Amino acid sequence: MTTEPYFFGGEEIAPGSLREFEIHAGRLPSGTQMTLPIKIAHGAKPGPVIWLSGAIHGDEIVGVAVIRHVLEALKPKKMAGTVLAVPVVNVFGFVTGSRYLPDRRDLNRSFPGSSRGSLAARLARLFVDTVVDRCDYGIDFHAGSDDRTNLPQIRGNMDDDETRRLALAFGPDVMLHSATIKGTLRETALRRSKTILLFEGGEPRRFSTAAVEAGTAGALRVLGALGMISDPPPPRETPPLEARSTTWVRAPRGGIFRLEIQLGALLTKGQRVGVIADPADAKYTTVRSPVAGVVLGHAVNPLVYPGAGLLHVAEVSKSKRTS
Ligand SMILES: [Zn+2]
Repeated sequence: MTTEPYFFGGEEIAPGSLREFEIHAGRLPSGTQMTLPIKIAHGAKPGPVIWLSGAIHGDEIVGVAVIRHVLEALKPKKMAGTVLAVPVVNVFGFVTGSRYLPDRRDLNRSFPGSSRGSLAARLARLFVDTVVDRCDYGIDFHAGSDDRTNLPQIRGNMDDDETRRLALAFGPDVMLHSATIKGTLRETALRRSKTILLFEGGEPRRFSTAAVEAGTAGALRVLGALGMISDPPPPRETPPLEARSTTWVRAPRGGIFRLEIQLGALLTKGQRVGVIADPADAKYTTVRSPVAGVVLGHAVNPLVYPGAGLLHVAEVSKSKRTS
């Protein structure tokens, strides 16, 4: 069976080759043209079409590094199917180090978007029309927000067999079943019958090493599970933990938070996770986890107000464990 060329932007991509495109995304007030870089690896053999997207939140740059590493590992001449890689979707927020667009909208609440709407709506529409609608599968890479760091995790509809199969193949530390939020890329993709995995890992504005490594290996394992590459990294030695609900451990008071546990720690109910103290005071308030579970994420800024989200805990005890 021979593979047809892949057409993108009116151009032909020969089987077994990698091409780079720039999609026009609008002008800045300075008149500078902003473009969305997209790399397309078109395999020599037929197969599924998958997109990899990063920095939909402009300051969550982990996916940029992940996608670069994945592209380095791909060999289009030996590959089946097609990879559409968009390392920076929110190009406007990326250049200013912001989660949002200059119109203060959240791109990941602006899907499916509109070509006549706000800047965020237009960018969402452009991404749906040029990338999502041409794919069967997608992996969207995020990182923690607001000075938080996340354990490498996959979020998705784990009640869907294909999503769960690919999440298991990805092999994150935690698989989290989560409902979709209106306006997200994930909601739009599901409405279009695409299978989508959302990766979370590391901190904003950092190429967090553990997250980049987990994201790269996981994405390549998914390509292996889809039969697109024949040499994916080996599977994880231990299966991911699975969870269906999460809880925030919040600051009982303002002060300086001293964290005493690490990402991925397994907590018992009531376990001490740190203390909050005043800057020069020996007295402190103990912070305990109200639930048992695994630490999915935590604040990295120790200066906290009352009610600040200190730790995000996934309640693995209530979940089904991978058999
Ligand atoms: Zn995000």
